[in-house]
Amino acid sequence: MVVPKIKLLHGAEMPAIGLGTYGLFEDQGVGEIRNAIESGYRLIDTAENYGNEVQVGQAIKEAGVPREDLFITSKFNRKWHSVIGVQQAWENSIRKLGADYIDLYLIHWPNPDQDKYIDAWQGLTTLLQQGKVKAIGMSNFKPAHLERVIGETGVVPDVNQIELNPYLQRKAAVDYHKRHGILTEAWSPLKPNNIVEHPVITEIAKAKGVTPAQVILRWDVQNGIVPIPKSANPQRQRNNLDVFSFTLDDAEMAAISALDQGESGAADSDVFGH
Ligand code: NAP
Repeated sequence: MVVPKIKLLHGAEMPAIGLGTYGLFEDQGVGEIRNAIESGYRLIDTAENYGNEVQVGQAIKEAGVPREDLFITSKFNRKWHSVIGVQQAWENSIRKLGADYIDLYLIHWPNPDQDKYIDAWQGLTTLLQQGKVKAIGMSNFKPAHLERVIGETGVVPDVNQIELNPYLQRKAAVDYHKRHGILTEAWSPLKPNNIVEHPVITEIAKAKGVTPAQVILRWDVQNGIVPIPKSANPQRQRNNLDVFSFTLDDAEMAAISALDQGESGAADSDVFGH
């Protein structure tokens, strides 16, 4: 399966869908991630905090896909929020992954209580200049945090990875990203308990002859959002990736967009972070 790519602000090309790896651990996780790569996944999303960068690196090695065909995303925790700290975090991730560069490196949470995300951002821009990463960004930043980053450093992020699904559409954030050329990546695109059972989603799935998860992931893709669904199951992995052979029409897109329940379900990144 050929997954289209999206050109990012600093020139890297990112696959339009990826594999989430939160919870894929140990030897079993290596096999599950390797299965996904063998099924065609090229974007693999990991993080220091998931404790599985070693398993991601091992799966990549076993799958035997050329490094330049893969797009590895990782993220670092709050204790590294300084220019030198981000260098150290990068070195740790690189060692665990067994790689010599990271495609997309993200500040995992803004942690505004320690007020150091601007220093972390300067650390990331240094890594970009050094060629140690191909693209830089953040996760869980609100427009107000991004406004400060862009205002104080003049460097616009390639990506902001945020919690986003049909119940939690983050319209203000997505609009802000679009206006600045920042790509929106969606974490937990399928997670809310019964979202794949919502009748609007299941009706569209039935009409199109696809699964409810494919409908949701296709809705992301058509909105220019990159989803990173996690599945340990080879069949669901293949199915989730297969969202480029059908389209949703305007009425179907609008019906899904009407499921938004507002921001209240989102983790508040002014309060929570690690
Ligand atoms: P998710 O990918 O939305 O949902 C995962 C759950 O959905 C699993 O229980 C999975 O079960 C199930 N699932 C997968 N495909 C399915 C299908 N086709 N039909 C029905 N159920 C399906 O949730 P997530 O893992 O929380 O989020 C995705 C990724 O985002 C993470 O793995 C991680 O990489 C990233 N993330 C980032 C942040 C951040 O702060 N930046 C936070 C959370 C997550 P099976 O495995 O059994 O298929």
